[in-house]
Amino acid sequence: MKITPSKVVSMQYQIAEANGEILESSEPGDEWCFLVGSGELPPGLEKALEGHEVGDSVSVTLAPADAYGEREEDLVQTIPRSEMGEDMEVAVGDKLEAETDDGWDFVTVVALDDENVTIDGNHELAGKTLKFDVKIIEIRDATPEELEHGHAHGEGCEDDEEWEEEWEDDEEDDDEEEKA
Ligand SMILES: [Zn+2]
Repeated sequence: MKITPSKVVSMQYQIAEANGEILESSEPGDEWCFLVGSGELPPGLEKALEGHEVGDSVSVTLAPADAYGEREEDLVQTIPRSEMGEDMEVAVGDKLEAETDDGWDFVTVVALDDENVTIDGNHELAGKTLKFDVKIIEIRDATPEELEHGHAHGEGCEDDEEWEEEWEDDEEDDDEEEKA
């Protein structure tokens, strides 16, 4: 079986900076699992994997545009603490869920003082040229449910409960909008 759209792929991975410094890697048994064509993977990596089979190793170096995008400085925002929840404790490096122009997204706290909190909505790997080394462990057909959700399910997949609940909530909202 080859990697084509609508397959679910599990792979071991390592992400390094252009200078070789390793940023992330999978533990044995903790593979990266994704639905091909869902946009879960950086576009350049997905392209590089196309047509490969189980057991193949793929190594590719990607410019930011093909990896996690260029950094966008307007995604860095300073907001008054009073706009955050009452008594909300934050520290530099915290990841928060915040409402952005594109809906709810994760942002990183990059600075703070008594008055303000500065958050960065860029992906932490945005703006970097990255070298991906992956080894393909499993390829299977996506289930109808996975295709409907637009992401992979199962061991090692990013279908944590919170995400599933969010997805269910979105569905309910959609149903309500249809009724209205
Ligand atoms: Zn799902």
